[in-house]
Amino acid sequence: MPKHTHNGKRKNGHGMKDRYEQDENMTLKELKVGEKAAVKAVGGSGALRQHFLDMGIIPGTEVTVVKFAPMGDPMEICLHGYELTLRLDDAAQIDIEPATESTSPVGIERKTVNEHPGLGEGGRFHEKKTEKPLPEGTQLTFALVGNQNSGKTTLFNQLTGSKQHVGNFPGVTVDRKDGEIIGQKGTRITDLPGIYSMSPYSSEELVSRDFVLKEKPCGIINIVDATNIERNLYLTMQLLEMEIPMVVALNMMDEVDGNGGAIDVNTMEAMLGVPVVPISAAKNQGIHELIQHATHVAKYQEKPQIQDFCDENDHGGAVHRSIHAVLRLIEDHALQAGIPVRFAAGKVLEGDANILEKLALDDNEKETLEHIALQMEKERGLDKSAALADMRFSFIMKVCDACVTKPHENKERIRSRRLDRFFTGKYTAIPLFILVMGLVFYLTFNVIGAFLQDLLAEGIGALTETVRQVLIAGGVNQVLQSLILDGIFEGVGSVLSFLPIIVTMFFFLSLMEDSGYIARVAFVMDKLLRRIGLSGRSIVPLLIGFGCTVPAVMSTRTLPSERDRKMTILLTPFMSCTAKLPIYAFFVDAFFPHHKALIMIGLYLTGILTGIIVAYIYKKFLFKGEAVPFVMELPNYRMPGVRTTLQLLWEKTKDFIQRAFSVILIATMIVWFLQSFDFRFNVVESSESSILAAIAGIFAPLFAPLGMGDWRIVTSLISGFMAKESVVSVLEVLFGPEGGISAVMTNLTAASLLVFSLLYTPCVAAVASVRRELGRKWAIYVVLWQCLVAWVAAFLVRLVLLLMGW
Ligand code: GDP
Ligand code: MG
Repeated sequence: MPKHTHNGKRKNGHGMKDRYEQDENMTLKELKVGEKAAVKAVGGSGALRQHFLDMGIIPGTEVTVVKFAPMGDPMEICLHGYELTLRLDDAAQIDIEPATESTSPVGIERKTVNEHPGLGEGGRFHEKKTEKPLPEGTQLTFALVGNQNSGKTTLFNQLTGSKQHVGNFPGVTVDRKDGEIIGQKGTRITDLPGIYSMSPYSSEELVSRDFVLKEKPCGIINIVDATNIERNLYLTMQLLEMEIPMVVALNMMDEVDGNGGAIDVNTMEAMLGVPVVPISAAKNQGIHELIQHATHVAKYQEKPQIQDFCDENDHGGAVHRSIHAVLRLIEDHALQAGIPVRFAAGKVLEGDANILEKLALDDNEKETLEHIALQMEKERGLDKSAALADMRFSFIMKVCDACVTKPHENKERIRSRRLDRFFTGKYTAIPLFILVMGLVFYLTFNVIGAFLQDLLAEGIGALTETVRQVLIAGGVNQVLQSLILDGIFEGVGSVLSFLPIIVTMFFFLSLMEDSGYIARVAFVMDKLLRRIGLSGRSIVPLLIGFGCTVPAVMSTRTLPSERDRKMTILLTPFMSCTAKLPIYAFFVDAFFPHHKALIMIGLYLTGILTGIIVAYIYKKFLFKGEAVPFVMELPNYRMPGVRTTLQLLWEKTKDFIQRAFSVILIATMIVWFLQSFDFRFNVVESSESSILAAIAGIFAPLFAPLGMGDWRIVTSLISGFMAKESVVSVLEVLFGPEGGISAVMTNLTAASLLVFSLLYTPCVAAVASVRRELGRKWAIYVVLWQCLVAWVAAFLVRLVLLLMGW
């Protein structure tokens, strides 16, 4: 057992019992690896405390410490059969007491069935009495709701096949995915961000909650990870209160079966009052049946039949009585506000100000409400939020006791633990992370990506040659010939050849994310990131930033604090995105052909280093305060689905090709036009007297101190604002393919130009996504700030190299 002496009070050599005796208020932080305890009280306040409760940290819950991160903080605990991370500072707010001997019936043999009885069998869950089918032709809309990593995206892809498109959320603008269910014309299913409860904790969770509450889909497909059923059902219970027809999809049944576990689906249906369909999204099992049930409940608007989960015999029934009292009190208000009554009652009892306001209770009613809550807290001996969370978890335990046969062992869990011994091990975690990233870059640039790129470049080269022959043979007008060959083929072609590298990079990033590795990286790096004022969660957007800034900025929505989100967004441009690769490759080939790898690595590291420096500045001056708590689930390692991965790659490819043939094509054509004509629209002899030269000349003095005063370089940098790749396509157009550039530039200039392109303003698409997230002011800030940083850095590099005698 590693020793973690975080607290001076701890005495070595004492057993746990002794420690409890010495220290009346022992906290979770003081537990050692492998030790078990029961939660006594949960401190803290606000959203974080609610989040703790929603994640299952409630008085009475048993927790076991799994490990500490390599740097000693955060820690990983196991509760309700799943793994959660939290920082020691937050763990110190959770009081513990000795655990009572566990009586959980693990591995008891029971006669169980996984099979589902089929649609409407015995009319049990599809009762026809209250049947009110939606009119023919109504679009059946579904929301796909579930915890993170429960398999939503995998299921979504199975349900929709390739018939999906990515759209934008109106208002909050979150990338949401809509699609039509295969074989069900006129349906629309929406893949929502993963949530743990209907109390939103991050801005992304708010989106999911609002979708369910405001857009009122015809049906909910609640995806539940069957290997982690206790935690997953917590959300299910809250969804059942929404009064929206619902089907529970029990996912990952292949793993449950494989481990010898079982789930009595019929009993579970009876207890939850909605159809429960066992499926395996990854193996495409049970999907057809799920579709049948979902469309049926939606069409006939069959609402969940049970909402009353509070047991009147539970702890004297205090919670039960209070909920029902509140139900009566607010019923008419909830109806008027269009909020499901049962949901509203739970929320106002918890003290949700947002819902309380919407209900518009008068003072009398508010007072009554307070009395009810107070009385409940007194009788139950828990505060209101904890009492309600406890009520939900007790119901879940009853469901699990009745329906779930836990396997003796969970192979995936054991495998994950084994892998984690290395990936989050004290001495191995960070070297392995560096190794993994190194491998990703090596494979991308040197092996797979590079190989495919050469192939593609040759193909494009051959095509260009053929077209040239045809144009010459056909005696096509010189200017047009120049447009096609020097403009389009030279420009777009050079960019297009980077497609393989970019797609390969995204492939590895998505592999890391889907397998569950990035969550470990966040766990391991949390302490380091805290030094620069961020939390471990920010590592995800930052790593995605190596692919493309746009999705990176978007993925910051999973961060639960505005401060962290802002800071992470402002730092992502420092992670060199794949679109800058063509620029690096172009200059390295022309000027430093013998130090290719060295310079590439150097550039990436320069970006990271500058990011760290800027982060320190931000932390000191712009974003004071602490990073948010780091409460995160560590999912089991899983093999990412082939289909999901292929679909992602296809999307990226499509995206890139679209860009190459829109933004980049247009930019290249404009540049070609401006450099071919003068202000009187005569074709110029040499482009120095062209319109372009004149315009770029205005900006040239700004770049002169960097040695980059040449108008052609200035032009290419400006066009890089449209899309980074077009820096290269423009240079190709302006200098011609064969080494024209080495005549006007020295190695020294090339070096500072590389640094400048690494750091200067992100492209329009990235700036637009910053604007969507943070508003116009910050978007403008990003553009100006990055240019300033880039200028200074490039200047410094030039200075240093000059002093070194270059
Ligand atoms: P999301 O975060 O809810 O969108 O979850 P994903 O669809 O990304 O899935 C998370 C991980 O679980 C991926 O690695 C999937 O390949 C895996 N997965 C999804 N469904 C199943 C399943 O039915 N069985 C197994 N064994 N793995 C699955
Ligand atoms: Mg997903």
